[in-house]
Amino acid sequence: MSVLSLADVYRARRRIEGRVLRTPLVESPSLSAIAGAPVYLKLETVQPTGSFKLRGATNALTELAAQGCRKVVTASTGNHGRAVAHAARALGIEATVCMSALVPGNKVEAVRGLGARACIVGNSQDDAEREALRLVREEGFAYVPPFDDLQVIAGQATIGLEIVEALPDVAHIVVPLSGGGLFAGVAFAAKSAQRAIRMSGVTMARGAAMHASLASGRPVLVEEVETLADSLGGGIGLENRYTYQLTRDLIDDTLLLDEDSIARGIVHAYRHERLVVEGAAAVGMAALLDGALHDALHDARAPRGPLVIVVTGANIDIELHRRIVNAVPAPSHSHETT
Ligand SMILES: *Cc1c(COP(=O)(O)O)cnc(C)c1O
Repeated sequence: MSVLSLADVYRARRRIEGRVLRTPLVESPSLSAIAGAPVYLKLETVQPTGSFKLRGATNALTELAAQGCRKVVTASTGNHGRAVAHAARALGIEATVCMSALVPGNKVEAVRGLGARACIVGNSQDDAEREALRLVREEGFAYVPPFDDLQVIAGQATIGLEIVEALPDVAHIVVPLSGGGLFAGVAFAAKSAQRAIRMSGVTMARGAAMHASLASGRPVLVEEVETLADSLGGGIGLENRYTYQLTRDLIDDTLLLDEDSIARGIVHAYRHERLVVEGAAAVGMAALLDGALHDALHDARAPRGPLVIVVTGANIDIELHRRIVNAVPAPSHSHETT
């Protein structure tokens, strides 16, 4: 059926073992009460670079290193670049990360802190990608795509393996959706284990390239705008090779959230789960809190069983996080868990 095979995913798992964490899957009492079914959070926030991107980047770079590659370049909204920088350092490879001016400063600093060269170009992920591809053509770098790459997808897919192994009766998985490397990987691994699993993708209402592409029936360009879910920004590429088709074939619902809803997700995570998450990672929880998952949860034909929300990253600027949390008053008779 597919260009990706389960053997690729198991190979990725063997390669990244010891370099990437097998992350906790923890039940959330507050979200379970809202959903009326057990809700679990898959905590990629605890990865060494603060996001799941380390899985795909480590798998892709291990493969490139085995082929003798000594210098790589990537284009990133921040988390993939940080993951590439981390994996490159571990493998003794030189890394350059192209990022646009939309990438938050904390993410740029993290890339530099890992010894990679950060190059800031233009005002969109597409601009950053153009510069990365120029370095590939003119200076002989190997390119590590942020999502549209089989090694990257297979790395992200190891999350799906971990979920179905820990929770064999999982009925529904909710995944943040941008370029679709994460979604395609998790959905492929999970549905290979159990076809009936429902897969929802969640993204921001403005500037969601995969959603617009799915709606148009082909990859389309979308203007990139500022959003709290900065890690979900960027296009899917008009020449998209893998993630568009995989996502189209494996997705059951696409849910769109406005900025206020994403902020409420960040605040809920902090107050009720004691988690610091970035906007892109809050969208699954926000979709549940906002009722966007209501139809999926009350679909009589849907399999019954636990819901898993993939919480993808922690890399929010801590000042921004403080402002968001302070902007939403705590209830006066606080029922917060302590
Ligand atoms: C990259 C990223 C996503 C989206 O992953 P894609 O493979 O581009 O769809 C979601 N959350 C976080 C925190 C990310 O860094």
